[in-house]
Amino acid sequence: MNDRIGGAAQRPSLDPRAPSARHFIANQWTAGEGEPIEAYCPADGSLLGHIAAGGAHDIDAAVKAARAALNGDWGQLAPAARGRLLLKLSELVLRDVERLAWIEALDTGKPIGNARNDVKVLARYLEYYGGAADKVLGQVIPFDAAHSVTVVREPHGVTAHIIPWNYPVQMFGRSVAPALAMGNACVVKPAEDACLCIVELGVLAAEAGFPAGALNIVTGYGHEAGAALSAHPDINYVSFTGSPQVGALVQQAAAPNCVAVCLELGGKSPQIVFADADLDRAAATVVKAIAQNAGQTCSAGTRLLVERSVFDAFVRRIATAFEQLRVGVPADDPDLGPVISAKQRQRVQRYIEQARRDGVPVIAQTPLPHDLPAAGHYVAPIVFGPVPTSHPLAQEEVFGPVLSVFAFDDEAQALALANGTDYGLVAAVWTRDGGRAARLSKRLAAGQCFINCYGAGGGVEFPFGGMRRSGHGREKGLLALEEMSVTKTVVHFHG
Ligand code: NAD
Repeated sequence: MNDRIGGAAQRPSLDPRAPSARHFIANQWTAGEGEPIEAYCPADGSLLGHIAAGGAHDIDAAVKAARAALNGDWGQLAPAARGRLLLKLSELVLRDVERLAWIEALDTGKPIGNARNDVKVLARYLEYYGGAADKVLGQVIPFDAAHSVTVVREPHGVTAHIIPWNYPVQMFGRSVAPALAMGNACVVKPAEDACLCIVELGVLAAEAGFPAGALNIVTGYGHEAGAALSAHPDINYVSFTGSPQVGALVQQAAAPNCVAVCLELGGKSPQIVFADADLDRAAATVVKAIAQNAGQTCSAGTRLLVERSVFDAFVRRIATAFEQLRVGVPADDPDLGPVISAKQRQRVQRYIEQARRDGVPVIAQTPLPHDLPAAGHYVAPIVFGPVPTSHPLAQEEVFGPVLSVFAFDDEAQALALANGTDYGLVAAVWTRDGGRAARLSKRLAAGQCFINCYGAGGGVEFPFGGMRRSGHGREKGLLALEEMSVTKTVVHFHG
């Protein structure tokens, strides 16, 4: 491994208690069915380790372990005790934050500062839902003197969690923590491209004291382990985060079992900048919201809509900031690192080359340093504009550091442009006109709407999820506890 990527002092020590190429099932480490999959660092192509290639047999073993946990110790635990386990796991994650952050940084190629933040956000999810576990209240329905009617919340049962590679530990926290808080038993299938840190969480869960089977982790390819998990007849709920294409497959696979599916999919999120906005603040945020994680963020602000009267002035700010972005290796803590894989790099470059061929003007491009490792998957961030509204850059999720810019003349045109894609995940409005901000926030097709700020997904506390092809179901905040449970109405005739 190149020392610049993570010097000897920072190289991750994969926990020997999480043996290479093993699944975590019923608090045991078990070998996978298939040939182990090699895990490479996207920053320099070096081999980091191996993960197990799970198949239908491994998934079945994990689902059986989860079912046994529900019928055993885990199912009997009081909500407060579940909460304490989550809080303990949060403490252990924070204790190991540096080690976990380095594993995450090298596995995904992201800057070490971002990886450290991701691990802290995971700890915060565990803390938030740990604290909430015993505060989920039911309802009493006023009816008549002869009946008592109550509504209580119960776990779904065995829940499946299919997780992408862009923010592995954050996505784990977001999906799994509320499920455990509500008393579900979880089977997690992380992405084959980046899951080393999630595998380590199995060790910490066992150390925290989670009963066997409450949390199970099966690694492997999507079309094998992921497909077997989505279709398993003893799964009661599926939480999927990933692309719309695979989300549709997962929903189809789960349909014969008639179970609920939560789909957290992609986006093409607009940032609408009006002439009266604080342009400096808006420009800095717009650049961060596309550069972060090399643009591989579902809620990245990929479309910039600027009022024509300030178009040139605003775009100049964006161009200057893009020219100064630092692309680099995780240890240098740059603004952005490589994309996840050669395949992803080719995909992003295809969009860039097509836009160039189609004559879409380039506003700015970040120069790549000459000394980047040759085997890393680096993409030079680029801004195109004005982009024709029917162009793929205006409609499709690139999932790379590519910003598309558009001009508008008035509020109505801004709204039409903003809502003019199939997606509906996040939107931002930059204006000092409170009435306009309120009007637009009511009419924007987005699961989250930011006014004069952009949280790229927002905090742990803010409910998150899509409309249209960005998916359905809600994670984060207290709403996730409803998502991860079902109500039962009890009608008692007592005369
Ligand atoms: P992906 O859909 O290719 O893979 C996501 C997960 O699904 C992986 O674990 C993969 O192994 C698994 N998978 C693949 N094929 C499967 C199948 N046939 N059955 C079951 N599981 C299968 O997505 P990706 O490329 O890993 O992630 C990028 C996408 O995820 C982008 O579209 C991005 O916008 C989206 N995303 C959305 C959110 C959100 O919260 N809305 C968050 C992160 C990423």
